[in-house]
Amino acid sequence: MTISDRLITWYQIHKRDLPWRHTRDPYSIWLSEVILQQTRVNQGMAYYHRFHELFPTVFDLAAASEDEVLKAWQGLGYYSRARNLHGTAKRVAYEMAGVFPTSSAGLKTLKGVGDYTAAAIASFSYDECIPVLDGNVQRVTARLMALEEPIDKPATKTQMLQVLNEWIDPRKPALFNQAIMEFGALQCTPQKPNCDICPLQASCLAYEKGLQGSLPFKAGKTKVTDIWMYYFVAVHNNKVLVRHRRHSGIWKGLYDFPSIDSSVGLSPDEVVHQWKHDRGVKGKWLLSGSPVELQHILSHRRVHAVFLEFTCDSVIEPDDAEQWVALEEFSALGVSRLVDRYIREHSQLLGGME
Ligand code: SF4
Repeated sequence: MTISDRLITWYQIHKRDLPWRHTRDPYSIWLSEVILQQTRVNQGMAYYHRFHELFPTVFDLAAASEDEVLKAWQGLGYYSRARNLHGTAKRVAYEMAGVFPTSSAGLKTLKGVGDYTAAAIASFSYDECIPVLDGNVQRVTARLMALEEPIDKPATKTQMLQVLNEWIDPRKPALFNQAIMEFGALQCTPQKPNCDICPLQASCLAYEKGLQGSLPFKAGKTKVTDIWMYYFVAVHNNKVLVRHRRHSGIWKGLYDFPSIDSSVGLSPDEVVHQWKHDRGVKGKWLLSGSPVELQHILSHRRVHAVFLEFTCDSVIEPDDAEQWVALEEFSALGVSRLVDRYIREHSQLLGGME
């Protein structure tokens, strides 16, 4: 299935029922797009209905006084948008006989209508095959492409538009645009993209590289985020508890150890307490030596990998991704360079394995 097909299939199942999705009327779509700039969907919905009730057509909006328009807009902020809306309504009503331009190029001649709004109206109302590029679409696109360039650079935008022009289905441009915008709003969200059940996972380069948390970014705002991974190297009866990274990111398919990941540094006591609590660990655990911290730098993340070695007198129940492996068999498993370095240079319990 193409990216467009997968997005549209996802959209048809998950889309929100929003009033402007039931119309192809350019006046209604233009109203919704102007209202939704800088405004959340829930708040924007009430204004969309209010404007429709007060000004059902572009002629009604054009004939209203500025005071009436600003009153209806009250609470949305950015009042220049309301003035542009009113001015544009007058132009369409009185200079264009109430007919909106039918192409994105024509729409862009209207005040307050930029690239994004023109593409949205042209595709939703007239099925013009032109991709939209709002914040949601930028995020999805930058992640799918693993774009490690600031998304607000003109050259990056051009790059994203080129790819979107390849992805957009010319037979269903409106659906594609709606789908990718909704996908960014609900699935591929800024903070917690739902990668585990994502229909685009197999095509997503950010996911493959483990970069979905740090992409996209803007010029001058590149911030290296620190994350801590506390590894539990538990040895019992000459076996070590090993985790197979089946799903996540750059270390997919490799083996390491169970870990607790954190966005803040924790003390060994806090980590052990949390681990015992999360895993229901009983019995005696002896911390062997001091924790070892190694750093691993990814493009926008600094990983602090802290290895804590334990000998334990009882078995911990492995979860689905884990298993107890005999020490002499462990060296046959594929591990990341980070884990390899730890074993070769620092581990007391596993060191010296070839
Ligand atoms: S795998 Fe994750 S980052 Fe990639 S498109 Fe899906 S939700 Fe977004």
